Amino acid sequence: MSLGLYIHIPFCRSICAYCDFFRGVYDREKAEKYPAALECDARDISKSYGINSSADTVYIGGGTPTVLPNGVLERALAMIKKHIFVEDGAEFTCEGNPESFTEEKARELKGVGVNRVSLGVQSLCDKTLAALGRAHDSYQAKAAVERAVKHGFRVSADIMLGVPFQTQADVREFARTMRSLGAEHLSAYMLTVHKGTQLDDMVKRGEFTPDDDFSADLYYAFDNAAREQGYGRYEVSNWALAGAECRHNIKYWTGGDYVGLGAGAYSKIGLRRFHTAEDTDAYISGNIARITDEEMTESSLAQEKVVFGLRTRMGADAEVLTAAGVDREKLLATPYFTFENNALHIKDEYLLISDGIIVKYIL
Ligand code: SF4
Repeated sequence: MSLGLYIHIPFCRSICAYCDFFRGVYDREKAEKYPAALECDARDISKSYGINSSADTVYIGGGTPTVLPNGVLERALAMIKKHIFVEDGAEFTCEGNPESFTEEKARELKGVGVNRVSLGVQSLCDKTLAALGRAHDSYQAKAAVERAVKHGFRVSADIMLGVPFQTQADVREFARTMRSLGAEHLSAYMLTVHKGTQLDDMVKRGEFTPDDDFSADLYYAFDNAAREQGYGRYEVSNWALAGAECRHNIKYWTGGDYVGLGAGAYSKIGLRRFHTAEDTDAYISGNIARITDEEMTESSLAQEKVVFGLRTRMGADAEVLTAAGVDREKLLATPYFTFENNALHIKDEYLLISDGIIVKYIL
């Protein structure tokens, strides 16, 4: 079976108020050295883990891959491909932020084979974008989506839910606008206030109060609007027009193998799950430390497939339930589950508490 290839670019133009991802402020010198480190990483993973499959999905994420100076991505990909073969026709996604997804960047991405762009729009309300510390405004966001469509990319747009100043009308408008601009895929993520972020300080100062009930209303308002626009929800946080689902993410959710390159990137190969240390300086100096997260068994892998499956439209199929040792009848005796099309599902009305349900009944 083909692999997914993930490449982590840990640089951003500035740091958003809510962010606790592994990333740092863009530094040209470090960015220029990054391709050689990626090659070292690819060579090492390929040898150490005996990679002999090719990749049919590639996902460049971050951070903000579009902050890289022109030419860096091309060099990085050429070096990586010496060790990991990328199939013709692979789904090839690059994340980007609206302010750095310029005409020149769009042409560069096209030139290196990217065919899908995932844009961190997050909101179309300027007051919200400013509160989140985003480096773009709504005009730039819409222009970036238009530009991506014009250049022939398949386009996905992210929105955050439960953020400052957001209304139900905003989230409905987001779905409508993205559809009219030509985005084929939407991802919606609930805001989490992480300790030590600027947003955490805002909460402490009383400038913003997260409201779980209102966030749930926003989620269902967005879900309805997205469906009205023709986007089907295929995972708790992801909607797509028919056939436009992200194949790379589906690989994560169905127990597929993926190689993660870059500082802080995660991999799963067979029953081994590991990640590279979150230390960009060490990484570019060639000191690539791998940390084992888990040695799985067939049964724990099946259990993981159940967990991910329950978050998706496909559900957890009967065969996987058996392999994971899940007692289907016991679960169907609770109010939370249904069994349709030979798979177990969490009912729509419980989707937002699916994590709690999974912890209580599956793990
Ligand atoms: S652009 Fe994304 S990764 Fe970078 S700081 Fe903002 S949220 Fe974090």
